[in-house]
Amino acid sequence: MPASLLAGSGDVTAPERPGADRRLDALLEITPVPACGAAEDARLLHEHSERLRRLRRTFLGHPVNLEFDYRPFGGMLDVLWNTVGDPGAPDTARTDRQPFERPVVRFLAGLAGADPAHVYGYVTSGGAEGNFFGMYLGRRRLPDAPLYYSAAAHYTVERTAELLRMDAVRVPCRRDGGLDTRALRAACGARAGRGAVVVATVGTTMLGGVDDLPAVRAALAPAGEIHLHVDAALGGLLAAFSPHRPPWGFESGADTLTVSGHKLIGTPVPCGIAMAREHLVPRRGPYDYLGATDATLACSRNALTPMLLWYALRRLGSRGLAARVRRCLATADYACERLAALGRRPWRHPSSATVVFDRPPAHVCRRWHLATSGNLAHLVAMPHVTRAMIDSFCRDL
Ligand SMILES: *Cc1c(COP(=O)(O)O)cnc(C)c1O
Repeated sequence: MPASLLAGSGDVTAPERPGADRRLDALLEITPVPACGAAEDARLLHEHSERLRRLRRTFLGHPVNLEFDYRPFGGMLDVLWNTVGDPGAPDTARTDRQPFERPVVRFLAGLAGADPAHVYGYVTSGGAEGNFFGMYLGRRRLPDAPLYYSAAAHYTVERTAELLRMDAVRVPCRRDGGLDTRALRAACGARAGRGAVVVATVGTTMLGGVDDLPAVRAALAPAGEIHLHVDAALGGLLAAFSPHRPPWGFESGADTLTVSGHKLIGTPVPCGIAMAREHLVPRRGPYDYLGATDATLACSRNALTPMLLWYALRRLGSRGLAARVRRCLATADYACERLAALGRRPWRHPSSATVVFDRPPAHVCRRWHLATSGNLAHLVAMPHVTRAMIDSFCRDL
């Protein structure tokens, strides 16, 4: 019988089996001489992808869209997809000039309320790199300012503050996940006149909370000069098209902003978009070796992800995105109704597709890939989540 990945660690719905990880590692070991046949290895890869495909039916708890189809890219993996430097004009003599990146940044800068002509942006490895970029520009601009972030900010924000050696001030959040602006005012008052770099979140990880950007700016009045970074990795595009349209972007005072690409848009590999008001971005280079300027946080970057994003956004347009958000929010409302009927006390922020409810038993959380925190669990009505999935989940409950 051919070796199978399933003989190693089982699927997530099965109980843990001791020793399984070790057997799986042994099966996949890279050996001094080429292992079995290429066909056999391709089969193992295929088996793993099939497993991921099956999980889609019960993938309720994480804010990533699994409904996408990039098969037109299928024949393109015998070309190097590497881009280096600032998103620049296409140059037919260079393999590293990526013509698809600038239209993606322009489109998203427009959605985020900016004049795209005055925004610098690039496609990142994910939302967290975009946060790093924004916080770095804040640090450069106001070197002595404390960093204010909410207790509900993404876990990587604290680590990034440490890397940037910032004086980080954690501010409590409200019960709905939004930053407590009264606490922010007090924290800032105690450090008056030092300036402020602040990370506001649009779509917090657990509750889907949205920080009130005008109130955040007002609360920081005692600080003096402010740099406002908006972590809109999860909720930016939802906010842009939700009926409530909370202030979330450049027109609401953001200086830098990040959006994830593999969340609402949906891509087969992680990516994100980092954006900044152009005047805040230093000109770096041109470097001899690259023949390019480069203000990004990387050197070589993935050149496929801008094309994936371009393809998805070209297929959708802003109307398609708006329709997608309406559908997600309607599914989230449906989940709220069903969970309320089961006595699970569901709640969602009006511009979030995250539905928070009383935590179910562990086997249900595991089977439906729910994220949990304390007594709470959440599901996220991403585009692949259907009413039929919600029904099936509720029957399980
Ligand atoms: C997902 C997320 C991040 C991290 O983004 P990645 O794209 O996973 O790197 C940061 N902040 C928030 C609020 C998120 O939801």
